[in-house]
Amino acid sequence: MIAPAGHGSPDPLEAFRLEARRWLQANAPKQTPPADGTAAREFALRWQQAQHRGGWAGLTWPKEFGGRALSVIEQIIWFEEYAAANAPSTHNASFVGVNHAGPTLIACGSDAQKAYHLPKILRGEVIWCQGFSEPGSGSDLASLRTSGRIVGDQIIVSGQKIWSSYADIADFQELLIRTDPASNRHRGLSWVICPMDAPGLTVRPIRTMAGPQKFAEVFYDDVRLPLDNVVGGVGEGWRTAMSTLGFERGTASLALQIRLAWKVEALIADCRDPALAARLADLRADTAALRAMSYRFALAHEQGAPGSDGSLIRLYFAELTQRVSEAAIDLYGIAGGPVLADHGWGFEYLDGFSETIAGGTAEIQRNIIGERVLGLPRGPQ
Ligand SMILES: Cc1cc2nc3c(=O)[nH]c(=O)nc-3n(C[C@H](O)[C@H](O)[C@H](O)COP(=O)(O)OP(=O)(O)OC[C@H]3O[C@@H](n4cnc5c(N)ncnc54)[C@H](O)[C@@H]3O)c2cc1C
Repeated sequence: MIAPAGHGSPDPLEAFRLEARRWLQANAPKQTPPADGTAAREFALRWQQAQHRGGWAGLTWPKEFGGRALSVIEQIIWFEEYAAANAPSTHNASFVGVNHAGPTLIACGSDAQKAYHLPKILRGEVIWCQGFSEPGSGSDLASLRTSGRIVGDQIIVSGQKIWSSYADIADFQELLIRTDPASNRHRGLSWVICPMDAPGLTVRPIRTMAGPQKFAEVFYDDVRLPLDNVVGGVGEGWRTAMSTLGFERGTASLALQIRLAWKVEALIADCRDPALAARLADLRADTAALRAMSYRFALAHEQGAPGSDGSLIRLYFAELTQRVSEAAIDLYGIAGGPVLADHGWGFEYLDGFSETIAGGTAEIQRNIIGERVLGLPRGPQ
C-alpha cells in the first residue's frame, strides 16, 4: 500500500490529507494534458490557477509571496494525494517557474524581484523557461559564451542557448551569461531574468523523438535587459545557477518520484506473467527506496537550497524511470493499447531517454556524486 488511508483520525496531518484528497477528487483535470504549444501553456496556467484558488499552490513558500509556509511533510502528503488522484504530471509548462525559478528567487532574489515575480508564478500567470545550455556548453556549463555587455544600467546580450524547455511559450527565462568578458570558467557569469518578448530575441522550437516540440534554440541579437534583472549579484551567476540546479536535481521532481511508485502499482495490477511479476516486484522495492531517499532529502533540505546530494536522487529517479517504461512495454507489448495510447507508455518510453540527459547527464551526476558527495579524487580535466 502506498499511502495510509487515514479515515476518521483526529491527527491534523491526516485531516490535511483528507482535505487534499477531497479537493483533488473534485478538481483535478481528467483529460490528457496537451504536450506542447499554446495548448500546453493554457492547460498548465489554468491548472496552476485552479490550485492557487483552492489554496494548494506554494505550500512551502513564504506567506508574503502567496504561499502557505507549511512544512515539507505537508508538501509530501499533497504530492502523495496528487499521485493517487492521477492529477496532471507536474512536469508541464509550469515546472520551471514553480519548481526552480521561484525557489531560486526566494533563495537569491532581491526584494523587488521576489515581490514582482513570485506571486505571478504561484497565481499561474506566467511560464518560465531555463536558458543555461549552449551548443558546446551542456555538461561543461562553465564554458558558456553567451555574453552580456554592461552599458550603464543595461546588459546587452549576444549569443545562443539551446534545449530551452518550453521557451516558445514562456514569458521569462532563467538566463545564464558571461558579463565579464575577461573572465573564464565559473567566474564572471550572471544569472539574469530575461523577458521572452524582449526585442532581438528569437526562439526556434526543436521536436523531440517522442513527438512534441518541447524545447527550443534561443538566439540573442543585442537583447537589452535591465541590470536590475540580475539575480544574486553581477558576476555571482555561478552561485545562483548552482542554487537553481540544486532545486532542479533535488526537490523539483518530488511529485514525479512519488508518481512513479503509483505507475508501478498500476503495472502490477495488470500483470499475469510470473517472470514479469518478479521484475515488477523489484521495481516496487526500488520505487519505495527512491521515495524514502526523496523524503529524507526533502526533510534534510527544508531550509535553504539543496546541495550536490540532489544528484543521488536525480540519477536514481532517471534510471528507474527508464526501467519502469521498459517493463511496461514488455508487459503490454509494443502494439498494446496502453503503449499506443495518447501519452501512453510508448510516449513515456521515448520521452524517458531524456531523463538521463536533462538537468545534467547520468555521467555528470555520477561525477558529482563521486567528487562532491563521496569526496573521491577528481578525474583528469
Ligand atoms: C528533455 C531535455 C530538456 C532540457 N531542458 C533544458 C532547459 O530547459 N534548459 C537548458 O539550459 N538545458 C536543457 N537541457 C539540456 C541539458 O542540460 C543538456 O543536454 C545536458 O546538460 C548535456 O549537455 P549536452 O547535450 O551539451 O551534452 P554533452 O555535454 O556534449 O555530453 C555528451 C556526452 O558526453 C558525456 N560527458 C560530457 N562530459 C563528461 C564528463 N566530464 N565526464 C563523463 N562524461 C561526460 C555526457 O554524459 C554525454 O553522454 C535539456 C535536455 C533535454 C534532453
